[in-house]
Amino acid sequence: MSEFDGTVAIVTGGASGIGLATATALAAAGATVAVLDLGIDGLPEPLVGFVADVSNRESVAAAVAAVGEAFGRIDILVNNAGISAVGTVEDNDDAEWARVLDVNVVGMARMSSAALPWLRRSPCASIVNLCSIAALNGLPQRAVYGASKGAVLALTYAMATDHVAEGIRVNCVSPGTVSTPFVDRMLQRFDDPVAERAALDARQATGRMVTPDEVAGAILYLASPLSASTTGTALEVDGGVHNLRVRQPRVTKG
Ligand code: NAD
Repeated sequence: MSEFDGTVAIVTGGASGIGLATATALAAAGATVAVLDLGIDGLPEPLVGFVADVSNRESVAAAVAAVGEAFGRIDILVNNAGISAVGTVEDNDDAEWARVLDVNVVGMARMSSAALPWLRRSPCASIVNLCSIAALNGLPQRAVYGASKGAVLALTYAMATDHVAEGIRVNCVSPGTVSTPFVDRMLQRFDDPVAERAALDARQATGRMVTPDEVAGAILYLASPLSASTTGTALEVDGGVHNLRVRQPRVTKG
């Protein structure tokens, strides 16, 4: 028996990267898992896909209703769908700002709003949002993206406060750089993707990027019915980036 047995979870953006690792881990732990994504082809069993665009309110409402109808309950919502953006405030135009904030921030609000009527009926309701260390640190060329994740952090605290009396917990995870297709695509926008990847590895105190499974483990902890006293927290899964100040290895002359 697992604490997730009998629960129903939604993972947005669950067809790739952190979302896919999380959906797979939740299913392995006993949850029935609905993946909401722009494309759901090739999802592994037993994940059940629902096409949805978190930037479209009608699409979100229809998909959440379909999950509720299919499984009769919704206990866990992982707001994972998100997109990247590279550049300073000089590089990104208004359309890029609107697009990234619409998916990364308003998308979470749309999803949560649609799921709340179901979550209120759950004995173990939990929402986990995907934040980032970009909310906590000034990362180079992440103006739009960092602003979007800063908003996710504030949104997490606001939602946790609004819904604590209803028994609905809201937390977020703040990963460092995670090796996923999201990072692979972002690296292609740099002049020297190989050097940039090496710099990302070196930025982690652990010397390597975080794995999707490591983030999934943190999400499962926050989503678990056993974590009933954990709400309004941001859990860093970042290889020490935010809190550690490690010394670089010294070069000694022989
Ligand atoms: P990914 O690109 O591998 O997967 C993202 C998924 O979201 C894709 O399947 C994509 O189709 C889906 N998606 C995008 N827009 C959508 C929309 N409008 N509606 C529905 N689905 C949509 O990305 P990832 O690296 O797994 O990132 C997942 C989350 O983790 C994002 O919120 C990202 O900001 C966050 N995050 C990633 C990293 C990292 O280094 N990879 C670090 C910190 C936080």
